[in-house]
Amino acid sequence: MKLAIGYLYGDLMNIYGDIGNIIALKKRAEWRKIDIEVKNISIGSKLKKGDVDIFFFGGGQDQAQELVSRDLLGSNGSVIKQEIERGAPLLSICGGYQLLGEYYKPHNNPKLPGVGLFPAYTIAGDNRMIGNIIIESMFGKLVGFENHSGKTYLKQGAVPLGMVVKGFGNNGEDQTEGCIHKNAIGCYMHGSLLPKNPKLADWLLKKALEVKYQKEINLEPLDDTLEVQAHNAAIKKFE
Ligand code: GLN
Repeated sequence: MKLAIGYLYGDLMNIYGDIGNIIALKKRAEWRKIDIEVKNISIGSKLKKGDVDIFFFGGGQDQAQELVSRDLLGSNGSVIKQEIERGAPLLSICGGYQLLGEYYKPHNNPKLPGVGLFPAYTIAGDNRMIGNIIIESMFGKLVGFENHSGKTYLKQGAVPLGMVVKGFGNNGEDQTEGCIHKNAIGCYMHGSLLPKNPKLADWLLKKALEVKYQKEINLEPLDDTLEVQAHNAAIKKFE
């Protein structure tokens, strides 16, 4: 089997080691003899339906978000939205997550329109929310690192990725963190997220294969001793 990972705006949106998520997806697939191609989708790319089986969109500073927001107003944004509606999985982190909501309002700039994939909106707050974060989710505990001033508010009916155990999450107010819509996930969890949360990494791979090959896929278990040690060490930091 083979999968194409669409790395969205990686040349502009890759902070706090978010490329580690691409590496984790690639290795966990290759360890299972699944061929992986990473396709860089950035400004000027013309994304077409079916080009990509799984999307990754990392974090970025306000300046990069402005450029990317403009590009997403074109066909790339609408194709991403259509692909998610057909069930393609996506992981977006922080700045990427913000641009997949309805809008992101930076401090001193006008609102940046989002793709409208997640029923959520983001407004830059006065303080940065920085530190290690733990949430409870459908994947069990997820651990990561956050650094954002943006406060994301989920609209009526939106489903959070999970609830904050330690840290700030979407906005530091309502205990929610992230958002999930079909097989698309947005969250504030840098780290990078997937190496320390193998269950989530495998869920993304499983969904991508099931949508592409239209059948149930049970991934062969891997030896996750190191991943689990890293995961548990992150949790222990708070004890
Ligand atoms: N610029 C956005 C914010 O500060 C996103 C930052 C990020 O991607 N870490 O909220």
